[in-house]
Amino acid sequence: MLERALSAGIETIVAIGSGTGPGSLDCGIQLAEKYDFLYATIGIHPHEAKLATDTDFAELAVLAKNSRVIAWGEIGLDYFYDHSPRKTQQEVFIRQMELACEAKLPIVIHCRPSDGSEDAWDDCLGLIQQHWGPSGLGGVLHCFTGTPTLAHRALDLGFMISFAGNITFAKAQQIRDSAKMVPLERMLIETDSPFLAPVPNRGKRNEPSFVKEVARQVGELRGLSTEEVGLRTAQNFYHFFSLHEKVNSI
Ligand SMILES: [Zn+2]
Repeated sequence: MLERALSAGIETIVAIGSGTGPGSLDCGIQLAEKYDFLYATIGIHPHEAKLATDTDFAELAVLAKNSRVIAWGEIGLDYFYDHSPRKTQQEVFIRQMELACEAKLPIVIHCRPSDGSEDAWDDCLGLIQQHWGPSGLGGVLHCFTGTPTLAHRALDLGFMISFAGNITFAKAQQIRDSAKMVPLERMLIETDSPFLAPVPNRGKRNEPSFVKEVARQVGELRGLSTEEVGLRTAQNFYHFFSLHEKVNSI
């Protein structure tokens, strides 16, 4: 899978290290220590918020010092599945924003509202404003699915907006509307592997090489080539995470 990503022109990958929750919080780091082109995040996903203990937060604070870790996430709120009680999700989210601030790491946000609602967005952006804004560290709204209005609010909070494979789905007009208005220099692209494989691979297991389809879709919306979108979003990535820029020719 990683070879296919490299052959597809992918230079750098971030492995989201939420794993299956406590007990696997170093899973991204293990990969990132093996491959130079791969970085890791750490964090407890809102799905597993109910499993988080003080011991896990202490472990995360230690893992955050690993040089391969570039962000804290996915953290946030998921009111669609409600795998953890909402109050618990909020508490675990706030606690991790405090820890990420101490570790001086940007955050990667997972936010999914209940069907036909913006409930999780209101809570999530409100909590970010209150508990994260003052850090000045910014973050990434991963797999953005919100309206252009929500995208504006996130941009005002200093966030990067990342679009995933679902931007290619027939019914995803709202995502495409947002991708049309987000300034290119504030945009990232991702796959959300193994979920949300983009058209024409929809329904398969998603993998990093498929991110090209996300670039293609953004390019169609913005009147840019797939290569140009790849180049610009890669530059954004290196710049935002203060990584040595590898992009020089695509
Ligand atoms: Zn997510």
